Amino acid sequence: MKRDELRAVAEEAAACTKCDLCRGRTNAVPGEGPANARIMLLGEAPGRTEDSTGRPFAGQAGRMLDRALSKAGLKREDVFITSVVKCRPPENREPDDDEIEACKSFLERQVDALKPKVIVLLGRVAYLSLTGRKSSIQRGPAGPYRGAVLYATCHPAVALHGRPRWLDALAVDLMSAAAIAEASR
Ligand code: URA
Repeated sequence: MKRDELRAVAEEAAACTKCDLCRGRTNAVPGEGPANARIMLLGEAPGRTEDSTGRPFAGQAGRMLDRALSKAGLKREDVFITSVVKCRPPENREPDDDEIEACKSFLERQVDALKPKVIVLLGRVAYLSLTGRKSSIQRGPAGPYRGAVLYATCHPAVALHGRPRWLDALAVDLMSAAAIAEASR
């Protein structure tokens, strides 16, 4: 059952000691959303608020994400939200290659259980880790991954500090991703 596997991943992530990020963690943030979600949103790593609540995109960047979802006619309940690594890196630095590798099987299992139609890559770290590309991020379809279409866009944090252009870009991309998911019904 999808739900059982998603729960198993969450439990294992909470007890995981495969990399040093476990040392600083208050809570792992495995992700959340309905088991029948057709869209997965993939961020980079939990920040302070996510670490303290155990919930993805619970802080400032999350508020931007909620605004973009709403502009796109979507709700959090429509999507499964997770990130490349499930524990907070110190000082919110980017996760390194070893940390990404150590956490990879959790993400692979989530994708295999959920079977999303589209995985929206929120920002550079998600883009680089799932496409394996070295180029800078290009918004739009970015190839297949375990049966899903990858769709690259910016990280919601870039829309902070009154940068409405990026909020609009994120909303437009979420709408396109939703259209791809809908077309494959
Ligand atoms: N940034 C992410 O990539 N994920 C979160 O959950 C919060 C901020």
